[in-house]
Amino acid sequence: VKDAKIQELKELESRLSALTHAQNLIYYDGVTLAPSKSEAARGETLAVLAGESHHLLTLPSSVDLVENLSRMELDAQTAREVKELKKEQDRSLRIPVEELMEWSRLTTRAEDVWHTAKLENDWPAFRPLLEKLLTMSKQMAGYYDADKDPYDVWLWENEEGLTRKQADPFFDTLKKEIPTLLQRVQEAPQPDTSFLKAACPLPAQKKLTGYLMDLLTIDPGYCVAGESEHPFTVEMNRQDVRITTHYYEDNMASSMMSVIHEGGHALYEMHISPALDRTCLTGGVSMGIHESQSRFYENIIGRSRPFAGVILPRLKELFPQVYENVTEEALWRALNKAEASLIRIEADELSYGIHILVRYELEKALFSGDLAVADLPGAWGELYQKYLGITVPDDARGVLQDTHWSGGSFGYFPSYAIGSAYGAQMLACMQKEMDVWAFVREGNLAPIGEYLREKVWRFGRTKTPKEIMDGFGGFDPQYYISYLKEKFEELYRL
Ligand SMILES: [Zn+2]
Repeated sequence: VKDAKIQELKELESRLSALTHAQNLIYYDGVTLAPSKSEAARGETLAVLAGESHHLLTLPSSVDLVENLSRMELDAQTAREVKELKKEQDRSLRIPVEELMEWSRLTTRAEDVWHTAKLENDWPAFRPLLEKLLTMSKQMAGYYDADKDPYDVWLWENEEGLTRKQADPFFDTLKKEIPTLLQRVQEAPQPDTSFLKAACPLPAQKKLTGYLMDLLTIDPGYCVAGESEHPFTVEMNRQDVRITTHYYEDNMASSMMSVIHEGGHALYEMHISPALDRTCLTGGVSMGIHESQSRFYENIIGRSRPFAGVILPRLKELFPQVYENVTEEALWRALNKAEASLIRIEADELSYGIHILVRYELEKALFSGDLAVADLPGAWGELYQKYLGITVPDDARGVLQDTHWSGGSFGYFPSYAIGSAYGAQMLACMQKEMDVWAFVREGNLAPIGEYLREKVWRFGRTKTPKEIMDGFGGFDPQYYISYLKEKFEELYRL
């Protein structure tokens, strides 16, 4: 009986995986290649598929199956699958399917409206949708966990174990340390970054993407790079991972760093244990751990001096007019120029945490009701003035710059900052076991990937974020502050 039940469970998970595969592929197509007026029909299809997943998971036979299995003696992995599915089921049973489908339609429409609103600097067009998204996401949070504060629900969804109680002291540390360090940096002599703005032909930039993926040890048999407005990664399964980038002729570094960032996400997804294939335990465990990997590759490796030494010969070959006279040191300094700026995704490693702090404070205020959506652009401007000392000139470069809220993602931003902090701690631990920079200098990133595979990637969702970080001695944000101080004091000779 037990074996038959386990077989049924695997079939259920396999069908759910197939639906996710289809949804993710349609989503990927929607933001890369699909024609511009295809949004409405795609939204309907995605809503139907979301409804199908919900239906399948909550069928009386599925509920009975999970219920039966949760009372049996099972191997560790199957027991964990059952526990995860039960959690999903309990939650799904609380969300009316009409609401789930409405949520799916709303986010698809809002993403489309946001896209145009950002291009046209048209906040009034997006505002009513954001109001609906906020109202609905508070409602949805109630279905997830009626006893918790709605914002805490979304923090926890993105990073299991995280609530405002843990996030507040973390952001207080950033608030205390980063603006002061940033100010010292801005008063020091500044690096020349003019070559980063020079025209680099797109065909050569596309070649660079292939080279970087190769350098990162990404197997092109399982991962390809497309193009989209905002770079992102989506996985169908560990054997089909898609990343995207955005090419700008006069900002080659933008795509270069995006490819390295998304490549970090892709490596994680591609190296989850095959034993977890087509189960609910495959995929990265949390946004924070995911961002720790992408930001580890982008910032810690990709913006290190040894890495600048590795890629420079290739840049000279691909963009000879621009890079002919650029030195390793000049490239390293230029890629790390830190300053108060307007756009989060283009922000340097040092000021980045402040962009997140602003969003964290605004999300908290929106959810508590202290801030109305209508007043959001003003509040955004005030916080950029307060923490970074800069004036936000328009909504396109302010409140409309990020895609997250349009997709209904609240409580996601903090995971970027927490992920950066996780990454700095992972580096400190890695350095105790190997000469990280010697490998980077050789252009040999395989041992670094192997270390991360062993301690992070392979586990998928079989460990919580906290359990992953326990493998590095337990999360401690001081590693991040020390890392930033050391790096930027050296860069700016403070
Ligand atoms: Zn990312």
